[in-house]
Amino acid sequence: MNSHPMRIGVLALQGDFALHARALEQCGCAAVQVRKPAELEDVAGLIIPGGESTTLLKLMDAWDFAPAIEKFHAGGKPIFGTCAGLIILAREVESPRQFSLGLIDVTVERNAYGRQRESFEASGVARLEAGSTPIEMVFIRAPRIRRVGPGVEVLAEHGGEPVMARQGRVLVATFHPELTDNTTVHRYFCDLVGRGRVAV
Ligand code: GLN
Repeated sequence: MNSHPMRIGVLALQGDFALHARALEQCGCAAVQVRKPAELEDVAGLIIPGGESTTLLKLMDAWDFAPAIEKFHAGGKPIFGTCAGLIILAREVESPRQFSLGLIDVTVERNAYGRQRESFEASGVARLEAGSTPIEMVFIRAPRIRRVGPGVEVLAEHGGEPVMARQGRVLVATFHPELTDNTTVHRYFCDLVGRGRVAV
């Protein structure tokens, strides 16, 4: 039906953007490393990877990325934030408070698993359109989602808490799906981008 692979951007300022690019390519998409706001014009969706949200914010600020990402979202294009990417997209960030784009109505607490559990792996189930699908979850100094607004759908939980959620075209996960060989979550995001793709 479509011989041109869908172009999905990965914000490549900091963090593990290369592994997201690999996962997108495994799903048959073309991954585009985005380093300047103008490069957003050429992609149908965007992944904001994990890393360190304070550093990421500084780099985003240097290039004036916030208004460009807001415009991208307002234009109906899907965005997926993992870990630090979720922190950037959340409505509210705690401990300590910091600027965020507010594109998904959740409150997150940074580094919220404490020292003993800074990094850990778990398996879980994601509730996707295709039904309940097993996923693997790698948490690295992960945030916790402390509040979920009424418009937000929880797609996966760990220990009874939301770890993956979606509000409209904004998808977030507290864990790192790109660190496993299971491409379920990236495939789900690619489908979301494919559905919204009209003019790109
Ligand atoms: N602890 C990081 C932060 O607060 C997020 C960690 C990650 O992205 N793996 O920004």
